[in-house]
Formats: sequence, C-alpha cells, structure tokens
Amino acid sequence: MSAGTVPLHRYPGLKVRLACRSCPRKGQFGKATLIERVGRNESLVTLRLKIADGWGCEIAKAVMAGEHPPGSVQCGVHYPELITGR
Ligand SMILES: [Zn+2]
Repeated sequence: MSAGTVPLHRYPGLKVRLACRSCPRKGQFGKATLIERVGRNESLVTLRLKIADGWGCEIAKAVMAGEHPPGSVQCGVHYPELITGR
C-alpha cells in the first residue's frame, strides 16, 4: 500500500501513528478524531504534513505553504505502521 493515494479512513487500525526521520517528533492520534478534524477522504500524504506543521516542523510548514523548493531537504514525517511498497 502506498501512502500517496490512501485516504485517511483506509488507514489500518484506530490509532494513527506518526514519526519524523529528520527530527525527534512523533505522536499518535485517534483516527476518529483526525477524521473529525480533516475529513475521512484527506490524503495521508497531506495529513502527515499538516500534522508535522502543527508540531512546528519548519520544513513541513514550507511545503504546506508551497514555498519549499523541490529537491531540498524533506521533512521525514511518515507512518511507521504503514507498510509501503507492496
Ligand atoms: Zn520534521
């Protein structure tokens, strides 16, 4: 499963876990709470950036604002429980 096309409601499990590879930020959120906040069809890719932005990650904030130049350092926020590449 690729996180790129997966909407929030298809995240497996009731808790959504996130962690950043570039900084020590990590956390977990109730899926129902997230759905209330952003809607069930929010893409997991957008959602992780929104959450990293909320954590105060400067890179994620720049990406969300469309100010992040392609090819530069990326925020490492990801879903450690999501199996990708299958
Ligand atoms: Zn980050």
